[in-house]
Amino acid sequence: MANKGTLLITGGAGYIGSHTVKHLLSLGERIVVLDNLVFGHVEALPLDRVTFVQGDMSDAALMERLFAEHAPEAVLHFAAFAFVGESVTDPLKYYRNNLAAPLVLLEAMQRHGCQRFIFSSTCATYGNPVQVPMNEDHPQAPVNPYGASKWMLERVLRDCEVAWGLKSVFLRYFNASGCDPAGEIGEDHEPETHLIPRILMAAKGEIDQITVFGTDYPTPDGTCIRDYIHVCDLASAHALALEYLRAGGATTPVNLGTGRGFSVKEILQTAETVTGKVIPVSYGPRRAGDPPELICDPAKAKAVLGWEAQFKDPRSHIEAAWKWMTGPRGGRYSVISDQ
Ligand code: UDP
Repeated sequence: MANKGTLLITGGAGYIGSHTVKHLLSLGERIVVLDNLVFGHVEALPLDRVTFVQGDMSDAALMERLFAEHAPEAVLHFAAFAFVGESVTDPLKYYRNNLAAPLVLLEAMQRHGCQRFIFSSTCATYGNPVQVPMNEDHPQAPVNPYGASKWMLERVLRDCEVAWGLKSVFLRYFNASGCDPAGEIGEDHEPETHLIPRILMAAKGEIDQITVFGTDYPTPDGTCIRDYIHVCDLASAHALALEYLRAGGATTPVNLGTGRGFSVKEILQTAETVTGKVIPVSYGPRRAGDPPELICDPAKAKAVLGWEAQFKDPRSHIEAAWKWMTGPRGGRYSVISDQ
């Protein structure tokens, strides 16, 4: 293929980044991963098949060296902090890491003429939904510093397009979940706050119970509805976004979800079926900032990228996550080390 060069993947040792690395390697891509390993796991990477650089994108000298040495054709940018609650109590940490640090990376891209950027954005840039399903024209009014930091970087990227021709795809993820179906890599966050892994931790007895945050939402069973998008579907969307930019596509946002919503109670019931266990549950108050319903309109992803979710039923996400959590690593990279 014309113009197929090295890819620089920031945060490639993280949850979504590592699944995308695995997918892009299967497509024959050449990859340099940059990760500071604050949350990433080097064990999630096949070190014989990627160039791994431990470091931070805010390190200007390192960025200069990386671009001089590898001349990447495109950057896939995953590296970010993503705890919504923490972003409210420590906003500067989020603006520094999610907004200021990528500016140093972008400066190196500009200096070296690297003009393709695939950005891990989020439906949190929309804030509270004014209608569902949500398409890319939905107003963007983020309600927490995490969403705001991603939204601001989108704005920066648009300005870079005007100034020096950078082309970006803003991939606005809904609720990422699931794992590599082969069970080789998976989700390992510390702390873990997400619904599906916490339910499975309760099923394994790693935590006493799962607390359902709110049962009085205006939804059919009173619990929140989310659009769960499988991490392998996110990975394939990145590959298609890369092809879109290689074909000369302009800067554009693209929502990534299935178009179908499931309630917290539905996810719990499915997890009981998959694990064959009765999962201890308690019912608590609402979590601040949770909208009742978030559902993606994925029409643009299909029209622009030719992408459609393959794992539409969250049962398949839970099955893969359970396989990872009950496999040799027990859901933690630290459990066994690479030989
Ligand atoms: N949730 C819950 N208990 C938990 C974790 C999450 O009831 O221990 C709910 C949460 O309120 C939301 C849904 O599960 O309605 C998905 O939350 P998650 O944190 O996985 O993703 P988010 O929607 O914050 O991106």
